[in-house]
Amino acid sequence: MGEAVSRKRGKEENVKKQRGKMALLINGGRVVDPLLELDEPLDILIEGGRISRIAPRIEKEGVPLLEARGKVVVPGLIDMHCHLRDFNEAHKETIATGTRAAALGGYTAVVCEPNTDPPIDTLENLNRWIDTAQGNGCVNLHTKVCVTKGRHGEKLTNLKALIRRPWVVAATDDGNPVVNDQVMARAFAKAREYELLLTPHCEESPDTVQAFRRNNPLIPLPDAIAFYKREPHYVARDLGLAEKAGWRVHICHVSMAESLDLIRRARARWIPVTCEATPHHLTLTEKDARKCGPDAKVNPPLRTKEDVEALRQGLKDGTIDVIASDHAPHAPEEKARGWEQAPMGVIGLETTLGVVLTALVHPGVITLSEAIERMSSNPAKILGLPGGSLAVGKPADITIIDMDEKWVVDPRAFASKGRNTPFKGWKLRGKAYATIVGGKVVMREGELLV
Ligand SMILES: [Zn+2]
Repeated sequence: MGEAVSRKRGKEENVKKQRGKMALLINGGRVVDPLLELDEPLDILIEGGRISRIAPRIEKEGVPLLEARGKVVVPGLIDMHCHLRDFNEAHKETIATGTRAAALGGYTAVVCEPNTDPPIDTLENLNRWIDTAQGNGCVNLHTKVCVTKGRHGEKLTNLKALIRRPWVVAATDDGNPVVNDQVMARAFAKAREYELLLTPHCEESPDTVQAFRRNNPLIPLPDAIAFYKREPHYVARDLGLAEKAGWRVHICHVSMAESLDLIRRARARWIPVTCEATPHHLTLTEKDARKCGPDAKVNPPLRTKEDVEALRQGLKDGTIDVIASDHAPHAPEEKARGWEQAPMGVIGLETTLGVVLTALVHPGVITLSEAIERMSSNPAKILGLPGGSLAVGKPADITIIDMDEKWVVDPRAFASKGRNTPFKGWKLRGKAYATIVGGKVVMREGELLV
């Protein structure tokens, strides 16, 4: 209990440090807040980095105005799954370039995955990441830590020590499932003891697929690729372990209809599970992957039309709690190695909002309020972060959206170092107009102000 409290305090200090002290009046926007059940024109006054008033008409002299008439004002978007690389992979992305991409995409907070090089599996590596993040990020930053040393799935990391540090919100071996059932069962026991969220990757890693091919050279590649259909196997196992441990679990980037059915059935039995889906799994199929080439090579892979339909249904009925980008940048020359050799991952920080609005909100698959719930309120709730709502007293982390801005995805214009998007050339409708972090405008009309 004491640890949970000190962890919370650490998080609060972290937030305080990241917050500016500016006053600002956001004028005349349509305020949409799923948690407060708001969808109406309101003014928002920011003082001392927090929301100090929200009312139909606020007048306050000497406070700078941000005109939001004709725009939508929502709680700052939170991406609970992205890769900002840095360390030995600074050629792919850095905290500086990644958070600039986040601000342009309307995100006020991002959660980084721990599969950096070196991975975040020791206090030393975690401290090094925090040092880098502290000086270089222009949005709120959080990180996950590894479940096992080196993400090898064998020896648990010192979770007790790692989660005491501020910035840490969850644990995962991103990119690898923890294959060994006993090791994962021990991870769940520790997670419950330390009140730590596990966000398992129910996917087959390239390493395990390659090892399978090495050991079974006569089995043709398509059968080896069937390994990538083992997502439901790990989902079922981790739901069982969560039930046994009596502790919640958040399943990363669900991509198959069968996985969603398992999650629905688990919820009906009161197993505490949440899950996320990515914009690419909600909009693209394996056929699109073939057309697009290595820029659409991703793990879990793009699936069938039926899976995409099931995911959209799951988003609609609330089975999918979160839309996360899984922004995974690679250098263009790495992605140019051809389908077999190119690394897995697509980027998404600068396109997710536009794709969600264009493909899901405007056509009426989900409402705008439901989209904001999946991209802000729910991530905040699941991770225990202070944002996710525009309630008075909350940190002034706010996104202003132009619902009708038409634009074409041009990877050359990205702030991210990655160019690996399967949405290249897509005509989108809707874009972040301004991003406000702790009361400070960090992006406005596509221009970074940091
Ligand atoms: Zn990932």
